[in-house]
Amino acid sequence: MGKVFEREAFGLAAKDESGVLSPFRFSRRETGEKDVRFRVLFCGICHTDVCMAKNEWGFTTYPLVPGHEIVGVVIEVGAKVTKFKAGDKVGVGYMLSSCRSCDICTDDQENFCPKMIITSGGKYYDDTMTNGGYSDHMVCEEDYIVRIPENLPLDAAAPLLCAGVSVYSPMKYHGLDKPGIHIGVVGLGGLGHIAVKFAKAMGTKVTVISTSDSKRDEAINRLGADLFLLSRDPEEMNDSVGTMDGIIDTVSATHPLLPLLGLLKYKGKLIMVGAPAKPLEFPVLPLILGKKMVVGSMTGGIKESQEMVDFAGKHNITADIELISADYVNTAMERLEKGNVRYRFVIDVANTLKPTPQLIICD
Ligand code: NAP
Ligand code: ZN
Repeated sequence: MGKVFEREAFGLAAKDESGVLSPFRFSRRETGEKDVRFRVLFCGICHTDVCMAKNEWGFTTYPLVPGHEIVGVVIEVGAKVTKFKAGDKVGVGYMLSSCRSCDICTDDQENFCPKMIITSGGKYYDDTMTNGGYSDHMVCEEDYIVRIPENLPLDAAAPLLCAGVSVYSPMKYHGLDKPGIHIGVVGLGGLGHIAVKFAKAMGTKVTVISTSDSKRDEAINRLGADLFLLSRDPEEMNDSVGTMDGIIDTVSATHPLLPLLGLLKYKGKLIMVGAPAKPLEFPVLPLILGKKMVVGSMTGGIKESQEMVDFAGKHNITADIELISADYVNTAMERLEKGNVRYRFVIDVANTLKPTPQLIICD
């Protein structure tokens, strides 16, 4: 695809490894035949945005406009778009495109396609960098967009687009979605708290494994977890040894795996979803002795993303959010890094992201 006509856009971008976001003016392509143009209403702040803004994984290109938990309202569609029309409420997650023809794409797992294009900090076909949802509007291929169920509040639904599908997908794939299953959720943050809600709606028994005793009450009384284990309390952990069929590990930092492997039953699965920048120590003996598995998972395909938001709609599941204005974003990211959020920041983009005088100066 060659360079196409463009329209002005503005957003917030990190310009270097400080990760500090500031106003940024850029352009988005004209609406192509199969493109949907939408105004961004809300965008969640995923821990991944912090890692990317600070180049913690080593592949960030600056300037970076973060944001991949995006909900918006369609303002224009291309001539060949069939699924969406102006006024529709839509969502975009971690990816914008993929090759559509490899075995992985035809298996509806576009999120693992080697040519998958990420929503923020990726390179699009016209060689421009992709800019995420901390911006006034987006232009996306219709096949990588989901429809948000009417009954869900749009601000609290935004985190479903990444946090939601990133836990829903492995729960379904690994058969941890059935009554009678006992599932552990490690790390009660953005991903973790939605995992608890999904797991309860699927009818499983859920245990939260956390470093924060302050979350015990709300884990049980508000989120509906059956059990809460303080991971640094050996007595609590010991009581649950060998009881879990699967564990979803959403921890963003280095942490010991040995106690978690101990919680698994024979043939239990530890599913790594959190993405610590540094390698973890990997104890092999407990795996061998219990025929246990450690696996990874990243977001979900488009088909299962739609299935996930529909499931959320059916069970009235959204994130617990703190709605913030765009000028609070740097403070929010600092607080997120310190674990000081219950449980997801969402930026009120449409109402608070305004072009500053600096943004409207023409080059
Ligand atoms: P988050 O809201 O910050 O939650 C992470 C949770 O991990 C914290 O709330 C905390 O829970 C726990 N934690 C933090 N530091 C810890 C430490 N040093 N030791 C033990 N536990 C610690 O982050 P998030 O947005 O949910 O993202 C979680 C991770 O998943 C990040 O690494 C992110 O990049 C990654 N991610 C992966 C995918 C994927 O598809 N695989 C998708 C999105 C995000 P407690 O207070 O309960 O201990
Ligand atoms: Zn994310």
